[in-house]
Amino acid sequence: MNDTRPTLTDMKKNLRDFASGLLDMHTPEIVQDDVQKLRQKQGFICDMDGVIYHGNKLLPGVLEFVDWLHKNDKRYLFLTNSSERSPRELAQKLGRLGLDVDESHFYTSALATAAFLKSQLLSPNDNASAYVIGEPGLFGAMYEAGYVMNEVNPEYVVVGETHSYSYDKIERAIRLVIDGAKLIATNPDLTGPSEGGISPACRALVAPIELATGKTAYYVGKPNPLMMRHAIKRLGVPADKTAIVGDRMDTDIIAGIESELDTVLVLSGVTSRKGVDEFPYRPHYILSGVGDIVG
Ligand SMILES: [Mg+2]
Repeated sequence: MNDTRPTLTDMKKNLRDFASGLLDMHTPEIVQDDVQKLRQKQGFICDMDGVIYHGNKLLPGVLEFVDWLHKNDKRYLFLTNSSERSPRELAQKLGRLGLDVDESHFYTSALATAAFLKSQLLSPNDNASAYVIGEPGLFGAMYEAGYVMNEVNPEYVVVGETHSYSYDKIERAIRLVIDGAKLIATNPDLTGPSEGGISPACRALVAPIELATGKTAYYVGKPNPLMMRHAIKRLGVPADKTAIVGDRMDTDIIAGIESELDTVLVLSGVTSRKGVDEFPYRPHYILSGVGDIVG
């Protein structure tokens, strides 16, 4: 008589198969087919460094991508956390690299910071003044938002990237914050790329002011969804018809997720395919570069 009952070995094998099936369910293949769906989006918000260029070089496929955006009447914004340059300066920089993009297509953390501070005014006649540590991109955005510069009793101390940081400026900022000025930072980037390697970015410059005053700055740039909301508003396309393209999981991709945009990670910048697994969230698409969107 045949015994059809499963042996202990069979049961162990079944258990192993079941467990490995469960594991598969939790480590699904990264979604990157269906780029067709991505091409239907009406709006694209693109990070710049590592997506459009690296240093002084345009990345492969960028010319084709921008040409595709224009030919298909897509709306798009190039977004950067750097508060150093104005949109016009960024347009000129890309122009020098051979990419012709109007200044209206750029959005910086300086513009987002100025928009945020404008929104904080209770009335247009409010005392809108700030002590600003930064470069012309930030000063210009602050003036545009109706703020005047004030080194004596400003409402805000605003810090962005700058090459002219000094002990005097740190000391003045600390005194003003202790006297009641609110501390605002354009973005939380610790470092940025520079020709010689890395350079200290906004958060590294705000740190001494935070440490000496015991106050923590409010950071406006990515991944703060506030910057994304301002960018989406400027783009004029609903979030569900817009995608964000970036090379960093901890800024671009999380900013997109928190703003309910479809997210596209490109591997042309700082993140490798393996690096994606280190985060508790994942992008909708992983592409080698923006050229993949065109096909
Ligand atoms: Mg980047």
